[in-house]
Amino acid sequence: YADYNQKIDYVFKIVLIGDSAVGKSQLLARFARNEFTVDSKATIGVEFQTKTLAIHNKTVKAQIWDTAGQESTFCVCSFLGCFFSSLRYRAVTSAYYRGAVGAMLVYDMTKRQSFDHMARWLEELRGHADKSIIIMLIGNKCDLGSLRAVPAEDAKEFAQRENLFFMETSALEATNVETAFLTMLTEIYRIIS
Ligand code: GDP
Ligand code: MG
Repeated sequence: YADYNQKIDYVFKIVLIGDSAVGKSQLLARFARNEFTVDSKATIGVEFQTKTLAIHNKTVKAQIWDTAGQESTFCVCSFLGCFFSSLRYRAVTSAYYRGAVGAMLVYDMTKRQSFDHMARWLEELRGHADKSIIIMLIGNKCDLGSLRAVPAEDAKEFAQRENLFFMETSALEATNVETAFLTMLTEIYRIIS
């Protein structure tokens, strides 16, 4: 664990993106605090948590950002309201992605639609983030294998085509959560060092 006055060699900002209810907040809770909540509340606004760990003898602080993930869906408001919410959306979005060196694109492997939306999330990410950002595609809820709606092959193919890392995880059972974050952080370290 990290001493509060420990020397930090690197701070890596990582963003979580994907439809709501795919498990972004629970993946973060599992990684940062080893916790899981069954009836977790929808995330409001933007929040982040940090975890400090050692990578190749360097102290790396991962700063992981989490958001509600539904801002971009639609706009059912008056013309002016729509104008201001799109301004707000653009400001929040660019702040969210600013400085990020890693992104986790999360879908729920029991919800085909959340996987089909990955292309749009990727487009938004590529439009706002640094070109060299490391991206990992995450199929979460792999504990619900009998309800699988996204074959691993489909996800692998998409990941390969788009040059993303890919992993299936379960925040509930703590499967691959640590591995996914560590793989991403190690890759970021490899690239910047
Ligand atoms: P977010 O909107 O993407 O942040 O999703 P949440 O983290 O709030 O999770 C949405 C719901 O899915 C909650 O009821 C969680 O308990 C549940 N959930 C999250 N991860 C998993 C998982 O790995 N397995 C299962 N079975 N449920 C999960
Ligand atoms: Mg959330």
